[in-house]
Amino acid sequence: MATNYSNYVGGEWVAAESGDTFDTHDPAHPDQVVGTYPKSSAADTDAAVAAAVDASEEWGDTPGPERGRVLSRASALLAERKDDITELLVREEGKTRAEAGGEVQRAIDIFDYYGATARDLGGTVKSASAPNTTLRTKNEPLGVAGLITPWNYPIAIPAWKIAPALAAGNAAVIKPATLAPGCVHEIATALEEAGLPDGVLNVVTGPGSEVGDRLASHPAVDAVSFTGSTTVGSAVYDAATEDGKRVQLEMGGKNPTVVSDSADVAEAADIVSAGAFGVTGQACTACSRAIVYEDVYDEFVDAVAARAEAIDPDEGLADSDMGPHVSMDELESTLEYVEVGQEEGATLETGGDALDRKGYFLQPAVFSDVESDYRIAQEEIFGPVLSVISVSDYEEALDVANDVDYGLSASIVTEDHSEANRFVDDIDAGVVKINEKTTGVELHVPFGGMKASSSETYREQGEAGLDFYTISKTVYDN
Ligand code: NAP
Repeated sequence: MATNYSNYVGGEWVAAESGDTFDTHDPAHPDQVVGTYPKSSAADTDAAVAAAVDASEEWGDTPGPERGRVLSRASALLAERKDDITELLVREEGKTRAEAGGEVQRAIDIFDYYGATARDLGGTVKSASAPNTTLRTKNEPLGVAGLITPWNYPIAIPAWKIAPALAAGNAAVIKPATLAPGCVHEIATALEEAGLPDGVLNVVTGPGSEVGDRLASHPAVDAVSFTGSTTVGSAVYDAATEDGKRVQLEMGGKNPTVVSDSADVAEAADIVSAGAFGVTGQACTACSRAIVYEDVYDEFVDAVAARAEAIDPDEGLADSDMGPHVSMDELESTLEYVEVGQEEGATLETGGDALDRKGYFLQPAVFSDVESDYRIAQEEIFGPVLSVISVSDYEEALDVANDVDYGLSASIVTEDHSEANRFVDDIDAGVVKINEKTTGVELHVPFGGMKASSSETYREQGEAGLDFYTISKTVYDN
């Protein structure tokens, strides 16, 4: 059954000014509508920003522990509704039940974490030169944060922007992705019931080119946090910095796993296939390049291809191995890259076919004989397609690993600890893992990338996640 959703503006649940709506569909059953949402415009965005401006001063003056209590209560309410939200996430975005349940739990934990972390940040230190002077630092909220989020983690990513923004005392307007906005309404509902004052969080659904663009350029928005593609992120950066807003960008990836000749090949194949094919390859941190020493190359290709073949894609609610792509456009884009890889001269070892059934399902693909300059080894595919590249030694592996525009997550599988430590030093990536898959991040440590993956200035998550939403004053008190 489809649900009708509204925008949440100034504490009221409202339609778009135009009355227009759009539908979301179940990627496993594209004929089924999951939700109907307001198709909002720049005018609706302006109303939401005005509500946030009105609410921001009082919320910013609210003591940190009180703000934290609201976030903690919202976490508990989300936990009570975990099963229903998990089902919504599966039906709207297409993850498997296990993947979606893990993501909803992450959102619950994020609100719990920032509920506990919300406080009036700052400290007192002695002056080094004047005995009667104490020095205080005081961290203040920025005002209004504009949050723009992608469809691929439709509850975890909104949570890791909303929770620190509010914990630090800001009001916020969020524009969730058009393909999967339902979970953000669940967050807003939980916060409303938890006692969040009207206007502190506002939700506006609608096209990125209208709502997102207006949010990024709105003169009353003080900071913009964006997660999505590098192309859109660059446009958001230009729009937001025109009047000097603070901007945080988390964007695409082309993440490598290096497989050393000292690695256990079966373990390496498990690690790479989990990183490449988990969440249907639709993760910014998905492994899309296995960079493998030539001595173990053939054995690795056979092992990883066998794992890809054994995956049985099916709808998420059936507890399958792998869910569908989120949309026909995304499936077609992946299929196009499968064509491109073959035209470029790579060998398609397995998979790459759309399944002959309803829904946007694809058998995961493994390419061998890939050269580092091929498009399939350079461009973000955002589907379950792995390129396996042969290298002769560590130096070549590192050159290939760094030979892309992106720098989000990277891993190495090796039994040689000094090789692992060299890799940590040498790789251009914001997240580096040893003997682990490239995907999966913990909420209490910083997350972000390098090069075209990130704006590099501000990290998300953990204590670092609060920095973006605060500005410090240093007080000299004599
Ligand atoms: P996207 O197309 O860039 O969209 C992201 C968000 O931006 C959506 O809410 C979208 O709205 C909005 N938007 C579109 N055009 C806009 C404009 N002109 N101005 C302002 N906002 C605009 O990305 P996606 O397809 O949703 O997500 C996949 C991408 O996200 C991949 O590249 C992936 O790597 C990246 N990602 C990165 C991270 C990370 O932390 N580094 C995490 C997850 C995903 P509509 O939905 O209405 O188009």
